[in-house]
Amino acid sequence: MLLLNCPCCGVDADETELAAGGEAHLKRETVGAEDEAFEAYLFMRDNPRGVHFERWRHAYGCGKWFLAARDTVTLEVFGTYPAQTKKPPKAIENALKKKRPDWKGWA
Ligand SMILES: [Zn+2]
Repeated sequence: MLLLNCPCCGVDADETELAAGGEAHLKRETVGAEDEAFEAYLFMRDNPRGVHFERWRHAYGCGKWFLAARDTVTLEVFGTYPAQTKKPPKAIENALKKKRPDWKGWA
């Protein structure tokens, strides 16, 4: 079972309390963007086997969005952080590098 700590209210929420929101840290394209860039923003997502950064909403709790770094194979959670964060916190990056030496790092 997936268990994520909501950084907004501090509750450890299991997956029945959460709603998945897809890939985190997408570069949002707006009006005026090239067609290929806008198409990629709308439809192209990473679906890695391993380390992934995702958006989650504490739907049956505080209702707020947050981000999580986890392994999609083992369900190991490396950390959660506020949705307004532009990139993963250094502490999470360091934990990832320590536990997954083959991880290519933050893009
Ligand atoms: Zn919450």
